[in-house]
Amino acid sequence: MDYIGDCKLVELGRNIYKPNSGQVNMKCISCSKETSKIVRFPCPGCGEEILRCDKCRGLSIEYKCPKCGYKGP
Ligand SMILES: [Zn+2]
Ligand SMILES: [Zn+2]
Repeated sequence: MDYIGDCKLVELGRNIYKPNSGQVNMKCISCSKETSKIVRFPCPGCGEEILRCDKCRGLSIEYKCPKCGYKGP
């Protein structure tokens, strides 16, 4: 009768799949791609940690700090 088991499973799976955001999945701030080749550095404006992939860094693609809006190459 009560067949909501599947729904519950999906929701549970989602929670497991999503631990604390930002720590596991490293996303490049410039291209929004998840990559393992990431460079971290503090924002020159506010010190917030900025994550960028080596590709964007190598191409000097502009980034914008999500916290203070600082833009840099
Ligand atoms: Zn990138
Ligand atoms: Zn900033």
